[in-house]
Amino acid sequence: MKVLKFGGTSVGSPENMRAVMDLVTDGEQKIVVLSAMSGTTNALVEISNYLKKKNKDTARIIIGKLENNYKKVVAELFTSEENKKKGLQLINDVFQTIKSFTSGTFGSVGENTILAQGEIISTNLVTMLMNENGHDTKLLPALDFMKIDEDKAADLNFIRNHIKPVMKEVGEAKYYITQGFICRDAEGEINNLQRGGSDYTASLIGAALDAEEIQIWTDIDGFHNNDPRFVDNTKKIDQLSYNEAAELAFFGAKILHPQTVLPARIQNTPVRLKNTMNPTDSGTLITAESDGQGIKAVAAKDNITAVKIRSGRMLNTYGFLANVFKIFEDFRTPIDMISTSEVAVSLSVDDTRNLDSIKEELDKFGSVVIDRDMTIVCIVGDIIQEEKGFASKVFNALDGIPIRMISYGGSRHNISILVPTQRKDQTLQALSDNLLNS
Ligand code: ADP
Ligand code: ASP
Ligand code: MG
Repeated sequence: MKVLKFGGTSVGSPENMRAVMDLVTDGEQKIVVLSAMSGTTNALVEISNYLKKKNKDTARIIIGKLENNYKKVVAELFTSEENKKKGLQLINDVFQTIKSFTSGTFGSVGENTILAQGEIISTNLVTMLMNENGHDTKLLPALDFMKIDEDKAADLNFIRNHIKPVMKEVGEAKYYITQGFICRDAEGEINNLQRGGSDYTASLIGAALDAEEIQIWTDIDGFHNNDPRFVDNTKKIDQLSYNEAAELAFFGAKILHPQTVLPARIQNTPVRLKNTMNPTDSGTLITAESDGQGIKAVAAKDNITAVKIRSGRMLNTYGFLANVFKIFEDFRTPIDMISTSEVAVSLSVDDTRNLDSIKEELDKFGSVVIDRDMTIVCIVGDIIQEEKGFASKVFNALDGIPIRMISYGGSRHNISILVPTQRKDQTLQALSDNLLNS
């Protein structure tokens, strides 16, 4: 069985929903994971932000607009009067749920319930559409089998143990549709796999069912060698290894949620990226194999903070780094990059929620300097192949760009540099012009 995931643009209009229906209904049994229609999750985030700020009137205005848009979608999507009526009933129910949070107190349960509604709507509408068109389709409620644990990590064992019974419970069907992104947490409350999480849903389901292939259908022809939103002349990559794709996704390539590759790698399931608007294109295939070319691609991750600890006591002592790392561990803050000298250590983090407390502790070891608004640019490929002169090629390509940190040699797949975010576009374009396309 294959698992196919369609992103927000792919289900972004009644016309696109019909295109998805035509694509998936080839007679082979499959699981189809859907995102919310494009723009919906952003609107739901906006609504909950206004509710958090107790600005209920503005929240109600956005809710009203979104509800009207969905009424138009329903009117265009269905042919039968019965389905038009059922569709409107669904929209009415969902928006009643959202509106129920505009009175009384508003907390994380309210927020996560609101954020979940986009995927609930899209999957219900597409399931109805497919059945209206004679395709044997059932809705699989993701909240009955998708789960994260106390550390907010996906609970693959739970998913493995629960997905088949849920499929059995909803009954045999040719096509199963389910919600991306949403899940339950350790307390059983509605939660989610973070923005862009529908990709991760698809790979978790693929791993749980030992699927033949996981397909991520989106609005571009595959994984490009640089970020097409910021750089001209990016090129599609035909093949990537799990490790290469995992590094690129982790370091900011928006086409894949950062964790998508991990469950597929455990199970050795191929992941294929495909373009919904151009389905005959072969896309990008991600497997254990690398096609052996040298430098493959670059990606960038924003909102990084660099922390430098300078200490006389570092010189010739052991245990200094362990003490520093322990502080980050105590505050559950992952470190991305690290570089050291005799007298100082620099590291980078993207979760700054506990940075003030971390700084307070670090101050006991020496002087601490914090630089915000930094970007990690990650260069990925089979670096062994490029070994001779690899670093000099990168440095030559980046002539004139101030590099705050560099990490090289941690794996054979990646070299990462830290630059000020205002230099990101220039850095990516320079790597494109001087390294990838030269
Ligand atoms: P979906 O809604 O289908 O999940 P996303 O917007 O999350 O789609 O991901 C697809 C987008 O990712 C592309 O339209 C492109 O702008 C962006 N993107 C960023 N980096 C890359 C890359 N390296 N290759 C391809 N697309 C990328
Ligand atoms: N709808 C969610 C988001 O916009 C999940 C996803 O699209 O993957 O982040
Ligand atoms: Mg996405």
